[in-house]
Amino acid sequence: MVSIIADSTTDSTTDSITDSITGSAIAIQTAQPVAVPLLGQSVELLTAWVVQQGQPAYRGKQLHQWIYQKGIRSIDEVTVFPKKWRAEVRDFPIGRSHLHYRSTAPDGTVKYLLKLTDGHIIEAVGIPSSKRLTVCVSSQIGCPMGCDFCATGKGGFARNLETYEIVDQVLTVQEDFGRRVSNIVFMGMGEPLLNTDNVVAAVRSLNQDIGIGQRMITVSTVGIPGHIRRLAEQQLQVTLAVSLHASNQTLRTQLIPSAEKYPLQDLLSECRDYVKLTGRRVTFEYIVLADLNDRPEHALELANELRGFQSHVNLIPYNPITEADYKRPTRKRVEDFTQQLKDKGIAVSVRYSRGLEEDAACGQLRASKAATSTLAPTLG
Ligand code: SF4
Repeated sequence: MVSIIADSTTDSTTDSITDSITGSAIAIQTAQPVAVPLLGQSVELLTAWVVQQGQPAYRGKQLHQWIYQKGIRSIDEVTVFPKKWRAEVRDFPIGRSHLHYRSTAPDGTVKYLLKLTDGHIIEAVGIPSSKRLTVCVSSQIGCPMGCDFCATGKGGFARNLETYEIVDQVLTVQEDFGRRVSNIVFMGMGEPLLNTDNVVAAVRSLNQDIGIGQRMITVSTVGIPGHIRRLAEQQLQVTLAVSLHASNQTLRTQLIPSAEKYPLQDLLSECRDYVKLTGRRVTFEYIVLADLNDRPEHALELANELRGFQSHVNLIPYNPITEADYKRPTRKRVEDFTQQLKDKGIAVSVRYSRGLEEDAACGQLRASKAATSTLAPTLG
C-alpha cells in the first residue's frame, strides 16, 4: 500500500524535468503531497488500503463505488462506513478539484476551469451530442512545446498532471452533465507523451474504474521521439492522434518548434511502428491555416507522405486566437483540400471544432482567463 501512501511531508519544492526535444532543463514547481489521493486507484489498491486501516476488505469495493459512482470528496461522506472510522480518515485526500469557472457555448460545449489542490488552474471541456459526451482533458499545466498557433503553448508550463488530476476532469464533467461520459480526447492543455506514465495510468483508471472503453479514448501528440513506441508497448486499445499540421519538414518546424529535433520522416517511421505493434491505425491531425498549409501542393505532398499508410487524416480548420496572426481558411479551400486527398486515396474527414465562442476549441485552451477579472468564478 505504499503506492497509495507516500512518506513525504507537505512541502513545496522546485524541481526540474528535461525537455526531451531540446535537452534543456525545465524548472517546475512541485507541491509534495502528504499522501497520494485515492482517486485513480483500482479497487484492488483501495481494498488493500482499507485493510491496512484495519477495516474489512469488502469496504474497499464500497469505497471504490463511492469514489467513482457517487463522486465523494471526503471519506466522511461514505455513510455506510462506521462513524468513528470516518472521523479518523476524513482528511485523507480523495483528489477532487474545485470548480473555479464554468461557461457554456451556444452549441452546448462547456468549458471548465478547475482549481487543483496546489492552486494551479487547468481546463477541461465537455462536448455533448445526442449520442455522445466527449471530454477533452488536459495532461499538463500549460505546455512546454510552444506550438506557434496554440494558446496553451503561449502560456508557459508549470508541471505534469498527476493521474488523479486527469481522472478528476472526467468525473467532474460526468457529474455536471448528469450523464455518462462516452469518449475522451487528450487534446486539452499539454503534451500527453511528456507525461506518458500518468496518462497511461489515467487511461487504465478511466477504463477500469469509470467504465469508458479504451477504444473511445484518443491520445493526441505532436510527437516526442521514442514515446510513440513507448505508448505502443503498453498495448492499450486507444486511438493515437498525431498532430502533423504540415506536409513537409520546413513548414512543420515553422509551426511546431520542437519538430526541428524530430524530422517528419522519423516521426512517420515511429508511427508506422505503432501500427505494426498495435494493429491500430493512426489518426493524423492537420490544422488548416489559410494561405499557409492549405494549398494544392500541400495536399499533394501530404498524400504522397501518407500513401499506403494505415491512417486517417482529420482536417481541422484553424480557430483564431488573439495571440497569433494565423487565419481560418474558407470552407471552399478546406473542401478542395479534402477532395484532393480523397482523390489520392487518403481517408480524410473535416472536424469543425465546437465551443469556439468560449475559447474551448482545439488550440484555444489556456487557463489565463482564470486570472482575469472579467470572468467571475462560479465556485471555489
Ligand atoms: S498544440 Fe498541443 S503540444 Fe503544441 S503547444 Fe499546444 S498544447 Fe502544447
